[in-house]
Amino acid sequence: MTNKEGLLIVYSGPSGVGKGTLIAPLIEELGMTFSVSLTTRSPRPGEEQGKSYHFVSQAEFERMVDAGDLLEYARYNQNYYGTPRRAVEQTLQQGRDVLLEIDVQGAMQLRRSFPAAVFIFVMPPSLEALWDRLAGRGTEGAEEVARRMAFAKGEIAMSQYYDFIIVNDQIERARAQLRAVIEASRVRAPHMKKFVEEVLHGHA
Ligand code: 5GP
Repeated sequence: MTNKEGLLIVYSGPSGVGKGTLIAPLIEELGMTFSVSLTTRSPRPGEEQGKSYHFVSQAEFERMVDAGDLLEYARYNQNYYGTPRRAVEQTLQQGRDVLLEIDVQGAMQLRRSFPAAVFIFVMPPSLEALWDRLAGRGTEGAEEVARRMAFAKGEIAMSQYYDFIIVNDQIERARAQLRAVIEASRVRAPHMKKFVEEVLHGHA
């Protein structure tokens, strides 16, 4: 299939739900490109500059917002997070699918501008299970865990605006669902529009 734009996959879920672990092996398996976001928060132990995030100062972040360099951005828990516009647009144009792991505020900004994108939300089986995972991760203090739990409720309420909700109770089952959803989204009619036009009207 030629002349095909990549699929934009918007992937959200509350902090601690296991989004990263769930998607990690599928990134290579399904040939997706992970969009590395910019953030003003400090790196956690083990996080490398340019790999999990581009860690930037608030001044640098604001400069990029003003220049229109971000596809979307949001303030989350005292920090800013944003998606670099050029990298995403270029990758999509090359026909590669791009995965954006972003919060619900950012996702909603993209709803209208990317009608062919697929929006996937990862849900915990219960709030208790989410608390256990957040506290067990040990990367945030008790106060931060409580703050993220409060956020989580608001985020879960927004899941109704997504196309798919994956409950992360058993990882293998959840991952199989996620794989199926991404593969199906690749052949959804809105995403196939360009191809259909090409079949009908051919090349110049
Ligand atoms: P964390 O600090 O745990 O890495 O991320 C906090 C939240 O910010 C998560 O929900 C994560 O998905 C979200 N996030 C990461 N990158 C972006 C981004 O580029 N834009 C938006 N809107 N949210 C992001």
